[in-house]
Amino acid sequence: MIPLISLRDGTHIPQLGFGTYLVDRADAPEVVAAALEAGYRHIDTAQMYGNEAGVGEAITRSGIVRDELYVTTKLSTANHRPDDVRRSFDQSLRDLRVDYVDLFLMHWPMPNRYDGNFPATWSAMAELLDDGRVRSIGVSNFEPAHLDRIIDETGIVPVVNQIEAHPYFPNDVARAASLDRGIAVEAWGPLGQGAVLDDPAIATIAAELGRSPAQVILRWHIERGDIVFPKSSHPDRMRQNLELFDFELTATHTAAIDGLNRGNEGRVGPHPDTFDWVPD
Ligand code: NAD
Repeated sequence: MIPLISLRDGTHIPQLGFGTYLVDRADAPEVVAAALEAGYRHIDTAQMYGNEAGVGEAITRSGIVRDELYVTTKLSTANHRPDDVRRSFDQSLRDLRVDYVDLFLMHWPMPNRYDGNFPATWSAMAELLDDGRVRSIGVSNFEPAHLDRIIDETGIVPVVNQIEAHPYFPNDVARAASLDRGIAVEAWGPLGQGAVLDDPAIATIAAELGRSPAQVILRWHIERGDIVFPKSSHPDRMRQNLELFDFELTATHTAAIDGLNRGNEGRVGPHPDTFDWVPD
């Protein structure tokens, strides 16, 4: 059974889900169908992944009752202007073929664009809560100062902060700042986008436990309380990544994985203070 994590607005999110970054529009129906078939009920997508329509196709075809699924999508960095938020969200709903999403995230803070006024974007997102088409709102790639700005300027606290986190870059500062403010942490790139899989320390633990490197890393996330949604296009790996709840790491294993921390050098993605890419 996949544990549910309670969020500050009274809703619950499955701690383990399926990620869809780099799954293209054409492959998404088949890949997401395989993930649903494997047993995933929490899907993480984004307008910028260009695959919401494919995800929606898989959801519709699966016949799974909507309430049994947890669907997250994210605001494109092209649509941060407050006047664009509702139109952008409506398009996501249409593409996903659902009448609500469980969680809508601001994908990046974009402090160097749109006059740095991401709190205004956040206020516009909060207005979407009123008509029930989004159950919860949150943020992604927010540093502590970004969290403080939206909370101070709008009084609205996000339910989650989705941040890069994995053994090479556990992102402890943003993680602790989120948890201190009652914000749950979602770890994107939980396998370091593949970079951590070949680490010799992980291989040693995997051999000791008779598990795969991916399972060892994902179990480390689960035990520290992260919400994770690894991505794979292979059904056997999808199934493997779900099998995390019948073994535990020892304190020695956890200490060894904690020791892989490379600080900022370990990042696989851009720094949120400088990221300002906008799709065409
Ligand atoms: P990830 O850490 O999940 O790694 C994916 C890679 O690991 C793929 O190359 C895959 O082939 C490989 N892999 C997965 N399971 C494996 C297994 N069992 N054995 C061997 N290899 C395996 O990286 P990710 O996809 O970037 O992150 C997960 C999700 O987080 C994304 O799909 C997306 O939904 C989300 N995400 C969000 C942001 C953001 O800015 N908010 C950024 C990146 C990703």
